[in-house]
Amino acid sequence: MMKGNAGEKIQERLFLSDSYLQKAEARILRKQENKVIPDKTILFSFSGGQESDSGWIGGISVSGSGLAELKGEKAIEYELEREPDFKEGDSVTIELDWEKRKKLMRLHSAAHVVSYVFQDVSGNDETIGSNVSSSKARLDYSCDHNISGPLAETEQKANAFINEGHEISIWQEEKGEGAEQIFHWKCGEWDMPCSGLHVKNTREIGRIRLKRANIGKGKERIEILLAD
Ligand SMILES: [Zn+2]
Repeated sequence: MMKGNAGEKIQERLFLSDSYLQKAEARILRKQENKVIPDKTILFSFSGGQESDSGWIGGISVSGSGLAELKGEKAIEYELEREPDFKEGDSVTIELDWEKRKKLMRLHSAAHVVSYVFQDVSGNDETIGSNVSSSKARLDYSCDHNISGPLAETEQKANAFINEGHEISIWQEEKGEGAEQIFHWKCGEWDMPCSGLHVKNTREIGRIRLKRANIGKGKERIEILLAD
């Protein structure tokens, strides 16, 4: 049991302790038409700018997810493509679309590396937004000039760092009774609060490509793409 939580958690989010789990057995706690709440889950639901996972519950494709309240606690509820035959109390297999998740984890870890390298190269740490999908990640900055120059250097330095194979770890901040859990992403000296999912070593990210987009006056965007 995690410190700071009173009693058992109604739903165990297995992806928080192991982001590489691709399959799990779970029991259905609640079913309302095509919406189900399992007691354990490996499927991430949109949070902190990271897109939701795709996957299957009892062989049926998940079409959406969100937080629902069950017995006074928040749990992830999944919307299935059709109403399932299984009932509350039944055991089901949850499967993850690993190809999509792998891209999400690689791009999310890459976004963190790029944000630190870009800050180092350009001096700009005025992030005003970020997002991670399975096709690209983006970092938005408050900036009144074109960032093409520092971007080329950032791409080269970020790729060199990624290729060095640095370990990435996730640690949990100790909070008082009943408080929200705060997770941190750590890689060498770099540490930032993050509730997303990550690879264990920067080498898993592979080579990345950076693109600049101008998104309006005083704003610049860095797009991060997987090059292989
Ligand atoms: Zn993050």
